Amino acid sequence: MYSNQDRYKDLSELRARLRSGKHFRIRTLDRKSKITVVSPHGGRIEPGSSRLARVIAGDDLNFFDFQGLTRFFPRPVDLHVTSTRFRDEILDRLLAQSLTAVSIHGMGTEGKGQIWIGGLNQEAKSLVAASLVGLGFAVDCDSPKYRGRSPNNFVNFPPQKGLQLELSDDVMRSLFAPHDRLFDRRLEQGQQGSQASNILMSKFAHAVRLAVGA
Ligand SMILES: [Zn+2]
Repeated sequence: MYSNQDRYKDLSELRARLRSGKHFRIRTLDRKSKITVVSPHGGRIEPGSSRLARVIAGDDLNFFDFQGLTRFFPRPVDLHVTSTRFRDEILDRLLAQSLTAVSIHGMGTEGKGQIWIGGLNQEAKSLVAASLVGLGFAVDCDSPKYRGRSPNNFVNFPPQKGLQLELSDDVMRSLFAPHDRLFDRRLEQGQQGSQASNILMSKFAHAVRLAVGA
């Protein structure tokens, strides 16, 4: 979301101006897997995306999670760096060893009730669309925005290209248990954050994993 209104032109500029651990945090897991799961706008930026991506990564897939930690100064939206300009050395390394990638986003109030399925991995798109429809979700594989088709979008760097999932707020919320917050700073640091919040999140994660051959 927000693509052309980003405050920082890339992660290097963001890093030069803000502090790791205070304003943002990056979590990575290198599992030597051929699949990398990424939440580039995690934490408070697109709430719920860090947790969902972590659950999809499970015990075996590579994981890269950029979390916005602050509520007001800077605002979560200020830490948004669009996917075509989202570059990081560790992420590059994970993608270089992968055949495909998955990125998880939240699109706020846009696409109400829907999941927009983008990216250039056509096979994964078709498979995940069919599975998610089977679970009762409304999906759009030809969405008006956030199509994830740019070759400069990091998700498309691996040879089989990638899968980009954009969830509206209400869909994201449906994947969480009622008492569970969409972003909990402490939870995201511990092991508990790798557990699905409810059964639907677990099924969602399974559908995505199957679609990319995990
Ligand atoms: Zn996003």
